[in-house]
Amino acid sequence: MLTTTIAGSLPKPAWLAETEKLWPRWRLAGEALQRAKERAAVEWIGHQEAAGIDIVTNGEQFRIHFVHGFLEAIQGIDWSRQTPMGIRADRYTVQVPTVTGPVSRPHPVHLDEVRFTRACTDRPLKFTLPGPMTICDTIADAHYGSRPAMAMAFAALLNAEAHALAAAGVDVIQFDEPAFNVFMEDVREWGIAALHRASEGLACTTAVHICYGYGIDENLRWKAGLGDEWRQYAEIFPALNASRIQQVSLECAGSRVPLSLLGLLKDKQVLVGAVEVTGERVETPEEVAATIRAAMDFVEPERLFPCTNCGMAPIPYEVARGKLTSLAAGAALVRRTL
Ligand code: ZN
Repeated sequence: MLTTTIAGSLPKPAWLAETEKLWPRWRLAGEALQRAKERAAVEWIGHQEAAGIDIVTNGEQFRIHFVHGFLEAIQGIDWSRQTPMGIRADRYTVQVPTVTGPVSRPHPVHLDEVRFTRACTDRPLKFTLPGPMTICDTIADAHYGSRPAMAMAFAALLNAEAHALAAAGVDVIQFDEPAFNVFMEDVREWGIAALHRASEGLACTTAVHICYGYGIDENLRWKAGLGDEWRQYAEIFPALNASRIQQVSLECAGSRVPLSLLGLLKDKQVLVGAVEVTGERVETPEEVAATIRAAMDFVEPERLFPCTNCGMAPIPYEVARGKLTSLAAGAALVRRTL
């Protein structure tokens, strides 16, 4: 009950990559870089276990960015053809690579790191992949001509990848879909269908993470303009609840999401964001417990998984460690009273 987990990413140590950046540069190259990624993953697994996190991840220590880490191995993408794109409906503009032909996956992308991570821990292991819609919102299209068509093409590649990772012992495959909160109509029209394609036939647990973004300035400014009540989830939760995805990971701590919206996910396991992913301060266990208890008005503890609001990649390393400890301690406080 109140099984704890995290959204996925964790900060990279300073000896591995630039810190507190969304697109950091590696500090090393070649074999030395590979060994450093492994060491960083081992340390984060250890920190999660020591904190008391039940379902762990490798903290995404093997990739620079949650979308491009997958795309780097995909054929049909021209990385030299950079197109400026206003992603998440123009929240911020970045130079993105361009799809110039049919996409294909010549070999597994994350299998080696999954095998490595699986051997590091006996706890249930979660692995995150970018969702098809979010991929389409992070890459330019000069081939497919429509987002749904491109999403379905990527979904097929994600499905093959997910099957390979599940076969290597991953317990939970999570698709990260922050774009779901921005293109709510598209979610209903083709986003869920693309997720179903991506998760087709998987025997492991499937999850989708939908948040209001990393705690970076662009997102914080966007959130400031969303008004007193964030009701984006209300438009997509009914469709998600009817979907085949088993878990929904969302942002609750310190956000203006009315928790009553969790009542729309009555058939799902709900990963309740109980720590924020900004770098300023670590919540106390009591604060975490209060968020969990508030969510329990709408989600029974059997279906409630205390979690982080989002990935913690861009925040200071020690702050993230503190948040892991508070997250597990807060869940333990509530568990004791059940
Ligand atoms: Zn997120």
